Amino acid sequence: MIDYHVHTSLCNHANGAMAEYIQKAVKTGLREICFLDHLTLHQNGKSQSMEPGDVPFYFHSVRQLAHEFERQILVKVGLEVDFDPKTADQAEDIFRSFDFDVIGGSVHFIDDMNIVSSKNTKNRENQPIDEICDRYLDSLDQMVSRKFADIVCHLDVIKKFGRRPSPWLSEKFDALLSKISYNHLTIELNTSGVDHPAAEFYPGAELLKACHSLGISMTIGSDAHAPGQVGRHFESAVGLLRSMGFRNVSAFTRRKRYGIPIV
Ligand SMILES: [Zn+2]
Ligand SMILES: [Zn+2]
Repeated sequence: MIDYHVHTSLCNHANGAMAEYIQKAVKTGLREICFLDHLTLHQNGKSQSMEPGDVPFYFHSVRQLAHEFERQILVKVGLEVDFDPKTADQAEDIFRSFDFDVIGGSVHFIDDMNIVSSKNTKNRENQPIDEICDRYLDSLDQMVSRKFADIVCHLDVIKKFGRRPSPWLSEKFDALLSKISYNHLTIELNTSGVDHPAAEFYPGAELLKACHSLGISMTIGSDAHAPGQVGRHFESAVGLLRSMGFRNVSAFTRRKRYGIPIV
């Protein structure tokens, strides 16, 4: 199997050396691991991301480790880039000047509100979840329309803290999925949600079913912020993918996608 979403201590809220993440992946028997550390240009997210000036160091460090571990595992380098219409051009300029294997796109902010942080929840908790979700989906729609990234990360992360949007928003999710399918983008099955109040994967089973019927390619990621989290809950995740009829997960080299059979 592969793990296409792990962080590093460069983002200031993950622990452990990069090599430790790789060692855990080797121990778990993974064939590929892809670093997907944060690049956030939003003013309020800077403290939880690498700085643009760290990108060269990050990129070359992972490439160096890929060389060191080449006999044991394939090590890829990507970024989890925050999509924000205001900074999207600047973000693209940064990541396009490196030969990244893959770019993951995430929406973590609606204006100044962080929708995924467990700190400073006050602002967020006061707002109806439907309103937040509606705006979240508008932002994802823009991200998908401009093919900002190869992978759409944690699609329904909006449920992270246990509040769920009303059924009418599922139509909006469906429209987004159609666009993702049309644009040949990949969605990740992000297993971290099991450890959050949401207590299930991102996306959940209903959306996953819709992904399958639209022929959307899936990858899989633990969103590890510590080496021990690499490959978390993969047995049940892979089982779920298989039971829904998926036969492959997607991996990337220099932003070209290829399939790895689920065995
Ligand atoms: Zn994220
Ligand atoms: Zn992440």
